[in-house]
Amino acid sequence: MRELTNINYIKELLNKNNFRFSKSLGQNFLVNPSVCPRMADYAVWEDNMGVIEIGTGIGVLTKELALRAKKVVAIELDMSLMPILSETLADFDNITIINEDVLKADLEKIIKEHFDGMKVCVCANLPYYITSPVIMKLLESKLPLENITVMVQREAADRLCAEVGSRNSGAVTVCVDYYSEAQKLFDVSKGSFIPSPKVDSAVIQLQVRKEPEIELKDEKLFFRMVKAAFGQRRKTIPNSISSGFSMSKEEITNAVVSSGLKPTARAEELSMEELAELANKLYEVKNA
Ligand code: SAM
Repeated sequence: MRELTNINYIKELLNKNNFRFSKSLGQNFLVNPSVCPRMADYAVWEDNMGVIEIGTGIGVLTKELALRAKKVVAIELDMSLMPILSETLADFDNITIINEDVLKADLEKIIKEHFDGMKVCVCANLPYYITSPVIMKLLESKLPLENITVMVQREAADRLCAEVGSRNSGAVTVCVDYYSEAQKLFDVSKGSFIPSPKVDSAVIQLQVRKEPEIELKDEKLFFRMVKAAFGQRRKTIPNSISSGFSMSKEEITNAVVSSGLKPTARAEELSMEELAELANKLYEVKNA
């Protein structure tokens, strides 16, 4: 089997298939030979596991996952990669390629159909233009996943793995922390790809929580509040939240104070527990 990180082979393969890189599909393929084995080792820790991969490219990570897991289902949007994958992954009988947009794919059905009785994880070098929507879809749909090991832009990695209540945190940090425990695994330089992107990347892992660590009276209200609070992060909590809720600023200020918070606090200063306390107070006020 030819090495899928060998630049001469990749060029020959792509030319033969008249493949053109698509910037809009976030196509930067890994050519650093140490990255995919490392990612696959972090994602798959038992050989009886099922893996969902998002965005195969020419199959460089797919192959490493298939060497370690029982079954890999890889979702790739670009039709023009299909003949290439038939060649590069021809030696594997435990890979299914689905030619679909991951944001439209029914992941629950895929898991039921392909991974019966297996522990399931997601591993991907994500197309950067859909990093947040993909991560949110994976977490919010409450799929039975063990972990999500993904490569993202370094700045996105910093935000996703930030501590809630620190300057780097955002609405996406809170959401990730609610559903999982995030950690940065390692950095990957922009020279590790063809074509080379403008910025460096990092691999992160989200260990999906069995249960959230905070208790919420209304999950939807919590996330609506978080979105409003971080949507205008320079403003104080009562100001930022009041624009997203049908409650007066005075009512919100009262809820803030009775949650033990300063009305001058900003979203990025609040811990997970403080955000939960405030959301639960707002729920009580709304339902009084
Ligand atoms: N895994 C390969 C690698 O590491 O070399 C390719 C990674 S490349 C950054 C992202 C891949 O995602 C591309 O193959 C691209 O065609 C695919 N892709 C882009 N948008 C997608 C979508 N909405 N659904 C599924 N795949 C997508």
